[in-house]
Amino acid sequence: MKAFFISTSIPYVNAEPHIGFLLEALEADVISRFRRSLGSEVYFLTGTDDNALKNVQSAEKSGMKTQEFVDLNAKKFIELMEKFDISNNDFIRTSKDERHKLGAQKLWNACSADIYKKKYEGLYCVGCESFKTQKELKDDFCELHPGKPLQKVSEENYFFKLSNYQEKLLSLIESGKLRIIPDEKKNEITQFIKMGLEDFSISRSSIRAKNWGIKVPGSEDQIMYVWFDALSNYINALGYASDDLNFERFWKNGYKIHIVGKDINRFHSVYWPAMLLSAGIELPDTVFVHGFINDENGQKMSKTLGNYVNPFDLLNKYGKDPIRYFFLKEGAHYSDSNFSIKLFEEKYNSDLANGLGNFAARVSTLIEKNGQIAFDKFNQKNLDIELHAFLDKTILEMADYLLNFKIAEAINSLWGLISYGDAYVNNNKPWSKDLTQERREFLLGNLGFMLYEISRALDVFIPETASKIRDSLKFDGKNIFSKKIENLFPKINS
Ligand SMILES: [Zn+2]
Repeated sequence: MKAFFISTSIPYVNAEPHIGFLLEALEADVISRFRRSLGSEVYFLTGTDDNALKNVQSAEKSGMKTQEFVDLNAKKFIELMEKFDISNNDFIRTSKDERHKLGAQKLWNACSADIYKKKYEGLYCVGCESFKTQKELKDDFCELHPGKPLQKVSEENYFFKLSNYQEKLLSLIESGKLRIIPDEKKNEITQFIKMGLEDFSISRSSIRAKNWGIKVPGSEDQIMYVWFDALSNYINALGYASDDLNFERFWKNGYKIHIVGKDINRFHSVYWPAMLLSAGIELPDTVFVHGFINDENGQKMSKTLGNYVNPFDLLNKYGKDPIRYFFLKEGAHYSDSNFSIKLFEEKYNSDLANGLGNFAARVSTLIEKNGQIAFDKFNQKNLDIELHAFLDKTILEMADYLLNFKIAEAINSLWGLISYGDAYVNNNKPWSKDLTQERREFLLGNLGFMLYEISRALDVFIPETASKIRDSLKFDGKNIFSKKIENLFPKINS
C-alpha cells in the first residue's frame, strides 16, 4: 500500500482559529484515521502561515512584536488540534522552522529557469495577499474585502513564468492526473486556466514586507511572496531541503492530498503545481476543496457582523465529540453550509442524544441485565443473517464513501445502521417474558455485536465516544458483556 500524505492549508495567524479551519482539520483527521485503519502509513501535516503581511499589520495594531504576536496565535492553533483530538503528526510554522526556510529557498533555486525580474505596478490586497487586476475589482475594492483600501505598489520584483505551464496544467487537470474534487471546483480551475495564465510576482521589496518573511536567495532587498514560501511548507515538512527519507517515501512515492478552502483553490491547483513542475518535483494527486460555513441565514460569519462563532466556546459548552460530529455530518464539505446554535442543538438531540446515545443505553442495559452472553461471531448459529448482511453492507459502503472523501455520506450510512438496530430492538422485544433464554441471548448477542462494530466505525469520527462505549461493552470475539452506558449525550433542553 502506498504511503499516504495529507495536509490542511496553513492558516494566517492574524487572528484566532475559526470554525472553517476546524472543519478542514476535522476532514483531514477523519481521512487520516480511516487510512490508518486500512493499514496505510499516514503523514498528516498541519501548521501556520506566519509570514503574511496581514500578520505584521495585526501585530502592529495590537502593539506587539510580530514574532511574539504570531507565536501567541500559533499556540491557539496547536491548542485547537489537541482539544479536538486532531491526529496530525506534524505541525509546521513558517517563521520558526528552519526546515521550512531552507526548503523555500531550495525550491526557489530549483525554479530559477522560470524566474525573472521586472518592474511592476499593481494593486495589492493585503486581505488576500495577492495582486488584483481591474477585472477583479468591485467599486475600486477587492471583491472579497470591500472597504479595505488596496495598496498601490510600484517596484521591481521577481516573477514566475506561470504562462509556461498553461497547456501542461490543463492537460494534467482535465485528464484527472491532478484530481480536483468536487467537479464544480475543477471546472472553475480549468476555466481560469483557459482564460490565459499570467506570470505572477513572487517577491516584494524588504521595505514593503516590513522585513518580515523569507529572504530571496542571493537578493538582500527582496522577500519571497508569502504564497511562494507558504505553499512549499508541504514538502519542507517532509524534509525536502535535507533529502529526508520522508520526502522520498511520502512525496516522491506516496499518495498526496491537500485539503483547502474554496478561496485558495487557485493557489493549490494552479500556482503550486506549476512551481513543482518547474522544479521537477512530483505533483499532489488530489486537491479536495471544501466550502464555507455561514450563519443560519447564509451570511458570511464575521466579528463585525456579530455572528461569529468561536470553536473554543463551542467546545467548552458542548464537549468535543458533539462538535466533531456536527461539522463532519453537516459541514461544508462539498458546498457551503450553515451553522447556528439552534441547528446544532436540534441535530445533537436527534442524532446523538436520541440516536446513538439512546441505542447504546438500550442495548447495554439489556445485556447488563442478562449477564455475559456467549457469542462467537464465526459460529453461524449465533448470527442473525439479515442483520449481519446489513452490517457488512454498511461497513463496506462507509469505506467506499471515505475513500472518495464523502464524509457526511459515510456518517449517514452509519446512522442508518443505528436506526436498523433500534427497529430490531422494537420488533424483537428482547426483554419479553415470552422469549426462551436461548432466543433472548441470540437477540442480545447480535445487538451487542452490532453496537461493538458501530463503536469501531465511530473511531474515525468521534474517537472519545467510541472508546467510552468499549469501556463498558466488552467483546473478545467469543463473549459479550456490558455495563449500562448512561448519558453518552444528555439531552439539551432549550
Ligand atoms: Zn482581497
